[in-house]
Amino acid sequence: MSDTSYFAAFKWVYSHLQSFRKKQFWLLLAAMFIVALFETGSLGTIAFFSSAVTDPENVKSSKYVGVIKQFVDAEFLNSSKGLIYSSGLLMCFLMMVKNVLKALSKYGMARFSAAMEAHFGGLLLNGFLRLPYQWHLSRNSADLINAVQWRVYLGRNFFQPTLNIFNDLLMVSIMLISLFVIQPVVSFTVLIVLSSAACFIYKVIREKIDRTAKTSRNYQIAINKEAAMAIQGIKDVKVAGAENAFVLKYYDRAIPLSKIFGLQKMYADAPVLILETIGFFMLFLSICILLLVFDITTAYMIGTMALLAVTAWKVLPAASQILNSLSSIRNSIPFIQTLIEYVEQIESELDGKDNKDIRPLSFANAVKINNVSFAYEGNKADTLKNLDFLVRKGETVGIIGSSGAGKSTLVDLIIGLLGPIEGTINIDDQVLTPTVVPSWIKITGYVSQSSYIYDGTLAENIAFGIKEADVDRALIKDCCTMASMNEFVETLPEGIDTFIGERGVKLSGGQQQRVAIARALYRKPEILIFDEATSSLDTKNETSIQKTIYSFKGSQTLIIIAHRLSTLEKCDRVIWLEKGMVKMIGSPDKVISLYGKDQIENKGWLK
Ligand code: ADP
Repeated sequence: MSDTSYFAAFKWVYSHLQSFRKKQFWLLLAAMFIVALFETGSLGTIAFFSSAVTDPENVKSSKYVGVIKQFVDAEFLNSSKGLIYSSGLLMCFLMMVKNVLKALSKYGMARFSAAMEAHFGGLLLNGFLRLPYQWHLSRNSADLINAVQWRVYLGRNFFQPTLNIFNDLLMVSIMLISLFVIQPVVSFTVLIVLSSAACFIYKVIREKIDRTAKTSRNYQIAINKEAAMAIQGIKDVKVAGAENAFVLKYYDRAIPLSKIFGLQKMYADAPVLILETIGFFMLFLSICILLLVFDITTAYMIGTMALLAVTAWKVLPAASQILNSLSSIRNSIPFIQTLIEYVEQIESELDGKDNKDIRPLSFANAVKINNVSFAYEGNKADTLKNLDFLVRKGETVGIIGSSGAGKSTLVDLIIGLLGPIEGTINIDDQVLTPTVVPSWIKITGYVSQSSYIYDGTLAENIAFGIKEADVDRALIKDCCTMASMNEFVETLPEGIDTFIGERGVKLSGGQQQRVAIARALYRKPEILIFDEATSSLDTKNETSIQKTIYSFKGSQTLIIIAHRLSTLEKCDRVIWLEKGMVKMIGSPDKVISLYGKDQIENKGWLK
């Protein structure tokens, strides 16, 4: 995707807002306009008050008081003290109202930006979780986590500064227009000098900002990816003694990144400093113009100076904040570009596929693998070729084959995580299509080689992904019994409410697999699939888990995948997969003995 411009990004973000947020956005703009009016009004009263205090006699007869008298011809406008009191009171009142409104609009702006972060973070997470499993196979998980975290660039670094720019522009324009009415020459000078200075500064630093922003994004992606990979693979990192290599790679990026952050900060602050310097020169210049060119009274002089000073007091920071916001926006564009790319991928991938129209499914007879072939994206050869067999309801079927034969791929197809490129998988008479998969997954229990245990209680790990209020505690206990883990649960300090996982009680490999079995059972499955569920366990644990698995034989449909022969001896039938094809289907005695011989003859080993 080519570089996104600010306007294109804004248009994209706006078009992805919910309609009530779009309304809120316009309401916010209206609120900002009102605040800007009050802000300008309050500054005008400061100037007026200063003149009134310095030279009330002159102010009383000025054209401004004349205008006010047309509306309110009050007695106090004719007395010096009355004028000072009334203008002072008006100044305080306007300041107070302006500040209350300003606080409210700032609250609205911050809240709106944060709500946008929440919205787009949710959009990404929801999209990532719904995208097909195959899409995830070719993505790095750390990149996806990064993308969800980068929602802050969309809110805090893009939309909040955009609102700030609207806010400041409104305020500066209203102030300068008002100043123009009162003091055209000076305001014209202010406008020309300030805007050309701001444009010049922005033009000079714009390219630098863009360059540093892109480098910063690329470095951050690399740093997070390396750190995530090293920590996720800590065991292998340690075994390979690769700690130093990862740490060095980290520093290779983190050190240059600190220089980039420094530059970004400097580019962001430079406009404020330059404008402040220019502003003071302008204040001095304006007074010189007034003194040299016009014949003015002290009150007028004090009033104009006060007006200029308060305008400068507001306009200069506003102008520099606009530049600051622009640089923040530019810094965030590369991140937003990545987010846009992800959301567009999600939209195009899910277009029509993420069907809400989920069809029910019944499983009474058999799962039929109907001439199925499958190839992974980017792989030239088919991983599975013309598989054709069935698993009858209530049957225990073993699948055997050497590593890389395609067993796990076949399971992913049977579960519905992957779709065949040729052939179909039928549940009874129904083809397993994306609209049926959710119903099929509901009645499928799956246990893999290394089950995912997340930081939470044992109960949460068993009732995985179910809202706390809907959790059936009695069913959890039943599942623990069926998974033969009662003895283990009794040792836990708070039973099924004990925290397990990284920050809780550490589980052994065997205990983890039992939790995974209980999790699979919690769904009241009609078919249980074990993909090398015991292969990473020691012999004692393997035997005991196998016993648990076979305890479901007869009452459940079981598919057990293994490359160890002993695991499959009690199956009704065994399917031997070799290089993605069915080599043999038959009774365990027959298939296992031939498979065993083949392993010894061809590979020279037998597990
Ligand atoms: P098994 O479970 O029998 O060991 P797999 O189903 O894991 O075999 O793998 C079968 C083949 O598919 C292997 O050649 C493997 O390299 C390939 N494969 C597995 N996963 C992927 C993937 N995500 N992308 C590309 N190829 C893959």
